[in-house]
Amino acid sequence: MPVTTTGKVVVMTSGGDAPGMNAAIRAVVRKGLALGLQMWGARRGYEGIIDGVLEPLSSRSVSNIIQRGGTILHTARSPRFLEPAGRAQAAEVLRANGMTGLIAIGGDGTFRGLIRLAELWDGTTVGVPCTVDNDLFGTDCTIGFDTAVNTALEAIDRIRDTASAHDRIFLVEVMGRQAGFIALAAGVAGGAEHILVPETRTDLPAIAKSIAEEQKAGKTSQIIVVAEGDEAGGAVEVGQKLKDLLGVEFRVCVLGHIQRGGSPTALDRILATTLGAYAAETVREGVSGQMVGVVNGQRRRTPLADAVGKKKPVDPAILKLVDILAR
Ligand code: ADP
Repeated sequence: MPVTTTGKVVVMTSGGDAPGMNAAIRAVVRKGLALGLQMWGARRGYEGIIDGVLEPLSSRSVSNIIQRGGTILHTARSPRFLEPAGRAQAAEVLRANGMTGLIAIGGDGTFRGLIRLAELWDGTTVGVPCTVDNDLFGTDCTIGFDTAVNTALEAIDRIRDTASAHDRIFLVEVMGRQAGFIALAAGVAGGAEHILVPETRTDLPAIAKSIAEEQKAGKTSQIIVVAEGDEAGGAVEVGQKLKDLLGVEFRVCVLGHIQRGGSPTALDRILATTLGAYAAETVREGVSGQMVGVVNGQRRRTPLADAVGKKKPVDPAILKLVDILAR
């Protein structure tokens, strides 16, 4: 029989914000309360735990937030938590306040922090994957990814109108320092001629050649989606290199932080609701050191070490298809 967690459970949002954090908080809190747990919130991620900024959360504390971007608990990067003294202080605060579980809503950095915290504190730790980048192993999608993709897609559609009206080539840079999931999804949905992602080698002379061929075949405008972390550079750098190769002008649009905000899509709200509730169940069962996720439509737990340590691959078949459909 698993050991069950009773008593006080704290929830926090940490690291980069993503649409759906509030929907996840709501589900964690209400499901936790329904399971008989006392639910608490920490402000500004690990910073709030280190400083003991903890507040009890009721069902009403999470009213009217499912549709809101950002996070009512606020989020932060915590340089102090990277230091042993900061982590020791956080563990002490959790012990002193009688906390028995911690649910962390965040990305890979947040989960690396959870793994380190478990060395110092024996409460139940559970991670809820919430990052626009979708770069966590153990879940098909992270919370926030679908909204970010749709935001990028809307921008690409608008840029295509201009590109088409003026017969221009546009480079659109989307988020993704280590992973090209946003670029791939928004690029495919937006009918991009080329998609540059960090997971595959970018051959700029080959891309320049195919841009020229597409133009010879009658294309008067083209869209190239670039993940910010592509090894050939961001959109500005890639645009300069392609200009040097082709001798034509490229327009550049860097989407930046608009991809982080906004009201979460229905898919993200549903995923946040499913995973938030599953995280509360997981804590209640005393199953520690896990990330909750959905794989092939099934709820799944993955050890935090695998969630951050294993690489989720991009689909090479879809990249090949992009090349074919660009013609
Ligand atoms: P995200 O969770 O969105 O990936 P970060 O990478 O900024 O965001 O991580 C959030 C916080 O988690 C960091 O500010 C830091 O306090 C903590 N953290 C990240 N990596 C580690 C680590 N290796 N060890 C301990 N704490 C970490």
